[in-house]
Amino acid sequence: MAESKRDYYEVLGVDKNADDAALKKAYRVLAKKYHPDMNPGDAEAEKKFKEASEAYAVLSDPEKRRQYDQFGHAAFENGGPGGFGGFDFNSMDFSDLFGDIFGDIFGGSSRSRGRSYNGPMKGSNVRTSVRITFEEAVFGCEKELDLNLKETCKTCNGTGAKPGSAIDTCQKCGGKGQVVRQTQTLFGMMQNVQPCPDCRGEGKIIRDKCTSCHGTGYISERKKIQVSIPAGIDNGQSVRIREKGEPGLNGGPRGDLLVEVIVSRHPKFVRQDMNIFSNVNISYAQAALGGEVLIDTIDGMVSYDVKPGTQTDTKVRLKGKGVPSLRNPQVRGDHYITLTVVVPTHLSSEAKDLLKRFDELTDNSLHSVANYRDKNKDGKDKKKKGLFK
Ligand SMILES: [Zn+2]
Ligand SMILES: [Zn+2]
Repeated sequence: MAESKRDYYEVLGVDKNADDAALKKAYRVLAKKYHPDMNPGDAEAEKKFKEASEAYAVLSDPEKRRQYDQFGHAAFENGGPGGFGGFDFNSMDFSDLFGDIFGDIFGGSSRSRGRSYNGPMKGSNVRTSVRITFEEAVFGCEKELDLNLKETCKTCNGTGAKPGSAIDTCQKCGGKGQVVRQTQTLFGMMQNVQPCPDCRGEGKIIRDKCTSCHGTGYISERKKIQVSIPAGIDNGQSVRIREKGEPGLNGGPRGDLLVEVIVSRHPKFVRQDMNIFSNVNISYAQAALGGEVLIDTIDGMVSYDVKPGTQTDTKVRLKGKGVPSLRNPQVRGDHYITLTVVVPTHLSSEAKDLLKRFDELTDNSLHSVANYRDKNKDGKDKKKKGLFK
């Protein structure tokens, strides 16, 4: 790593408190500006692109960002205090970034993405979603997806041409699949590489289309795909299944399947990151006297001893009864309970009599007006004198 590395926040032009959306937005702008496809042969742009990509890779990962905030670039150097054991830019999985961001920037399928037209190309990623229960998200689960996926047409082997028919080299681009357009701008002559409009980047023109796939080279097949959803996943997060997306081109690998998880609401529990929140009603007598209550948690019923004299809205923490960490399932969040003291609304006449009797017996410090009068009689609370005559 170079010694004079720029601050990652500075590289992206965001402030230290930038949220994920702000980071992504800033990176998207820079990536689009400096992407090698947009700046062929420009070493400075490539350097800037790598710098921005590295900054984004670190800051968009909550754990790496925490380490960076604490230790700076030292966090990712060998034996750095962050204990990362080296941060290797080259080994980073940028296909994640490409999938998420470049898919948006360049749009559409890999066929029109504008990279190397005749070389092997990774197939497009396929996005789908699966609905799971609250508990399945907490503990993880296995799901089977039933999907229509593109497969290479077996009749034409993906060429799109009728077997035995001729495939002509595109005249416009000479088979390269791309054309260079020159435009005069304020800054001089600009060269712009674009997919060839005649062959749409294929470099070849098909005379007789394959009848099985209508010349697309693909057929759609219904497939069952198993997906392992890890414990601790949250609503809106995705699971990536490598090479289960669309077939690659010219021998390239398949794209990935990105399965977004939609978590159903739970009737009792609300989740926030790794913590679970719920409400438990206790009776006035339980609150006053204390005693055991059974509390519903994600692990089942647990017993909790309510302290005598518990007030309504008391918060209780059940340690380790929350959601497991995605990174380390041994680490779990907590379950926070709000104890609500319920005032009875329907009382039998016997219960009413008992409550009246109870009221007479208890310290009437809650009866504020009566209390002031008593104090005033003793002359102890002079400040309040005059207010209550
Ligand atoms: Zn075909
Ligand atoms: Zn062409």
